[in-house]
Amino acid sequence: MGLTDITARIAKAAKEADRDPSDITLIAVSKVQPNERVESVIKEGHRSFGENRVQEAAGKWPGFRETYDGIDLHLIGPLQSNKARQAFELFDMIHTLDRPKLAHTFARLAQEMGKCPPLFIQVNTGEEPQKAGIAPADTDAFVQECRDLDLPVRGLMCIPPVDETPSLHFALLRKLADRNGLNQLSMGMSDDFEQAIAFGATHIRVGSALFGARVPPAG
Ligand SMILES: *Cc1c(COP(=O)(O)O)cnc(C)c1O
Repeated sequence: MGLTDITARIAKAAKEADRDPSDITLIAVSKVQPNERVESVIKEGHRSFGENRVQEAAGKWPGFRETYDGIDLHLIGPLQSNKARQAFELFDMIHTLDRPKLAHTFARLAQEMGKCPPLFIQVNTGEEPQKAGIAPADTDAFVQECRDLDLPVRGLMCIPPVDETPSLHFALLRKLADRNGLNQLSMGMSDDFEQAIAFGATHIRVGSALFGARVPPAG
């Protein structure tokens, strides 16, 4: 698969769902991919990328940004509070606001730095103990808490359990977003992005289907 194929599949899924493909952002998940693969996708004209670790993104993206304009970088992995400042400097959007403590850290940094990237709240739709995110039952209250802190919350994000039908989770996320007046949904990965589009995804996060299997860094 390459960018052309994925883009065609997005267009087809959007059409079937009676949606405009330009309402769907493809986030190319470049974590652990060799720089040459990432750069070739940039050279094809793609600009939205996702990383799940601050450290890795810090080593990779400032360099690309010197060479290429218009890079749009998304944090899609868990964030420790002590890396939040660096995340604010590096990323254009953060998809993993997953706990009250982090919301308070973001609010403090937003005051101090005079800026805050647009945010997604991560919801643990499968209520998996090992997974980050706000429980579905706590989501309404947490959205309100973030609004009270003046945080720029744009939508909700989820990572469905691997062994369950993703559509159920996409539908739940959609319902939670709708009833909180949020119109952006970060959901859908390599194996299920077409279903996510059918349920209203505005940001799909696709890694291996686009770049090929993740290979460990050389050396
Ligand atoms: C790695 C990752 C992806 C991409 O996964 P693929 O299955 O390779 O498409 C999407 N979202 C998150 C949060 C990830 O960590």
